[in-house]
Amino acid sequence: MSIPHAKVDLPSQADAVVIGAGAFGFSVAYQLVRLGAGSVVLLDQYEPGTQVSPKAAGLFKMIQASETKTRLALLSRQIVTTFAQETGVPIPHEAVGSLFIARTPAHAGMVDAEVEDSVGWGVEIERIDAREASRLCGYLDPEGIVSVHHVPGDLYIEEPRSMLIAYWQAGEALGLRVIGHTPVTGIRVEAGEVRAVQTAAGTIETPVVVDAAGVWSRMVGAMAGVEVPVVPMRHQLRITSPIDGVTADMPIVRITDASGYARPARDGLMFGGFESNPVAYPSQLPTGFTTDMISFDPTLNDQFAEVLKPSIPVLREHTSQEERGGLFTMTADGKLMAGPVGAVRGFWVTTGCNGSGFSLSSAIGRCVAEWIVGGEPPFDLSLLAPDRFASQGLTPELLHEKAVWQYANYYTPSA
Ligand SMILES: Cc1cc2nc3c(=O)[nH]c(=O)nc-3n(C[C@H](O)[C@H](O)[C@H](O)COP(=O)(O)OP(=O)(O)OC[C@H]3O[C@@H](n4cnc5c(N)ncnc54)[C@H](O)[C@@H]3O)c2cc1C
Repeated sequence: MSIPHAKVDLPSQADAVVIGAGAFGFSVAYQLVRLGAGSVVLLDQYEPGTQVSPKAAGLFKMIQASETKTRLALLSRQIVTTFAQETGVPIPHEAVGSLFIARTPAHAGMVDAEVEDSVGWGVEIERIDAREASRLCGYLDPEGIVSVHHVPGDLYIEEPRSMLIAYWQAGEALGLRVIGHTPVTGIRVEAGEVRAVQTAAGTIETPVVVDAAGVWSRMVGAMAGVEVPVVPMRHQLRITSPIDGVTADMPIVRITDASGYARPARDGLMFGGFESNPVAYPSQLPTGFTTDMISFDPTLNDQFAEVLKPSIPVLREHTSQEERGGLFTMTADGKLMAGPVGAVRGFWVTTGCNGSGFSLSSAIGRCVAEWIVGGEPPFDLSLLAPDRFASQGLTPELLHEKAVWQYANYYTPSA
């Protein structure tokens, strides 16, 4: 697959400027050109597609604990699985399904409630027994499992950057301009309306700006006088060396009481989890900060290996092929921020991933682009309104406390 090169010449005018070439930015920018929104420029401060998104686990999870997010998860799946048909550019994915497992009666109860809601919102889920689960998934030991649900629609993308490259190629074919190594330094707002995006390489006059700057989205919002209350929070994972008997077509496994997951990766397993005391980063990140500067804690991956081992015995004697990670953008209520900002006309936000941003970005991009072009979202997205926290008296301490809770309870949102 050839990777397009970022262009360096900056136009003086555009119909829309998207800031941040990660999963969200690529998706919304591609959908804008697909819908004929005119000239669309996607800017990144670094090489496009190199920050948090390529570090993701690449998991698509249909169980999402809210009707809106479930709808987005189903739409994302549809977009990704039909992308090749629509654009001629494939998004390589493994449609292997997943097993949602509980090893304690209390966790089984929480899973049951979540599954019941998800089925009501249109997700195909089947309760199976532990033996059937281990027949479907050769690396799973049925011993000690209290309940398992099979979600056949879940999938994973082996190398997450491949999705961004696909959007890049499909977007450029429709006229999208992707410009890297160009940090946005200011946003001009006049009379409550967005007018221009400023960079060291020049200014782009535009009536529409999308803040898709990931963990920098709060800083980009501030350039337009908009508060984007997200907390960058570290998440890391490990890819083991190849393991005999593990193949790419085996399902994803999520073990709720371990707050951990595993999936096949590079002939071994990828695994990670959600610790109860995650490391938060300041929302004002230093100039020049990149996700390669994050320091990881291998002992945390060792701890997740320990709690996963009883059900995934091949982790007993594994070696590591890669330790990687990045930062989630957590919100106070565990939901994304997507849509227009009331106070500044023409300013849109797509962030607040809460751990599911890679997978939900395809649907968010589609919905926000349709909203920008057509004036209405395709369905009610008020739950994700970027300014919903304005009246909530969210102090930095309260935001941090709530964001930690959302992170730690990723698999148990009803706890
Ligand atoms: C280890 C890990 C595993 C994960 N696993 C999953 C998973 O399995 N499934 C899932 O759905 N999600 C997962 N996630 C979450 C997912 O990766 C993120 O939600 C998603 O990638 C965020 O995309 P983004 O576009 O917001 O951020 P990014 O990919 O970081 O993109 C933001 C971009 O904005 C640019 N930018 C910032 N400021 C400026 C500026 N001033 N000017 C120009 N450009 C700017 C940055 O350089 C960057 O390229 C995981 C995350 C991590 C860390």
